[in-house]
Amino acid sequence: MIYFDYNATAPLVEEAKQAWNKAYEESWVNPGSPHQASVEVRAKFERCRERVAELLMCAPEELVFLSGATEVCNAWMRSFAKSGEKKILVSKQEHAAMHESAQEYLGDRVVWFSPVAENLIEVLSEKLHADPEIGAISMMAANNETGMVFPWQEVAILCRERGIPFYCDTCQWIGKQPLAGLEELDFFCTSAHKFGAPKGVGLMKVSGRFGTTKSFVGGSQEHSLRAGTQDYANVAALSAALEVAISRTTTENINTRLKWRDEFVEKLSQRLPQAVVHGRGKACLWNTVFVALPGRQKAIDWVDALWKEGFAVGFGSACSTAKNKTSRVLEDLGVDPEIASRSIRISAGWDRSKFDWEALLEVILKIHQKFSEDQTDSLTEVVSID
Ligand code: PLP
Repeated sequence: MIYFDYNATAPLVEEAKQAWNKAYEESWVNPGSPHQASVEVRAKFERCRERVAELLMCAPEELVFLSGATEVCNAWMRSFAKSGEKKILVSKQEHAAMHESAQEYLGDRVVWFSPVAENLIEVLSEKLHADPEIGAISMMAANNETGMVFPWQEVAILCRERGIPFYCDTCQWIGKQPLAGLEELDFFCTSAHKFGAPKGVGLMKVSGRFGTTKSFVGGSQEHSLRAGTQDYANVAALSAALEVAISRTTTENINTRLKWRDEFVEKLSQRLPQAVVHGRGKACLWNTVFVALPGRQKAIDWVDALWKEGFAVGFGSACSTAKNKTSRVLEDLGVDPEIASRSIRISAGWDRSKFDWEALLEVILKIHQKFSEDQTDSLTEVVSID
């Protein structure tokens, strides 16, 4: 299988696998127990926290390990809702984890905005100025469907100036893009399976400037911000995978991969001029292409046909696949629902090569040819029945 669905999840990197195995072999005891074996695991756990904090440019005590970004989004929105009566500006393109948490915990205290608005910072400033009841902003750093990147560094500055919290979902950013500016965020988060660690572990930064952001209650683990037995093996794997992912985010690596992606888009558009690449011409992650392919076939037909040829791709957000709904992100971009229904998401990882992109293009062209022939045959049959 040639895997092009990294925005849904990434395979385990060898370093994470080794770290997890070693930790589970040698250090499986509960880090919260009082005996000496636990004291040692606790010390190792805290060393991981220090290393991860160093990599992510924050203080160890600002980091909370938990199950992943969905838990974080719930924690942030619930904590903000409980902290007072203020409203929050939330981007329409947030992942369902944030979007639905905002709706669930804040209801009509949510003011939606489009992150692709021209002069976004001015738009947000005006909204804050016009309504003093707005007391926070939530916007992701990079979109999981289109790969479009948003000016989160500037939103962080705006929020700093206004003295309000900025909840930034950096799930698709960390491990893919350079981290400059992360130190300015009071709140960021990620799920470790997006960059090569196991599923079910992630982290959030909570600076404390705006009070605490509790995930679960019921125990004093994670500075009382996330109750539940701590999982040293998962955190050791997260730390190892993060180290590897960050070491790959060099300018040279990113530029090379951006070139492969752009060449793919360019050649695809030349060969299939009716293909619609969402967010084309906008700043985008080096790994993602969200494209509506021409013809009558729906995204699922393309996904199945590509799978038969040995390629795994997705359509939109993996979490909304089961819901079979039009992508909210494409709606916000003003994409026609029919075009949206033909859109597949291609997302590469660091180990995808130029040849993989080229092979994918050839296979898409081959399938398109087959679909067109099938269509012509079925039209001919209809004509002959008449
Ligand atoms: N936020 C973004 C931007 C994501 O891409 C995802 C996962 O796809 C999540 C949040 C939720 O992550 P998880 O399902 O690991 O909790």
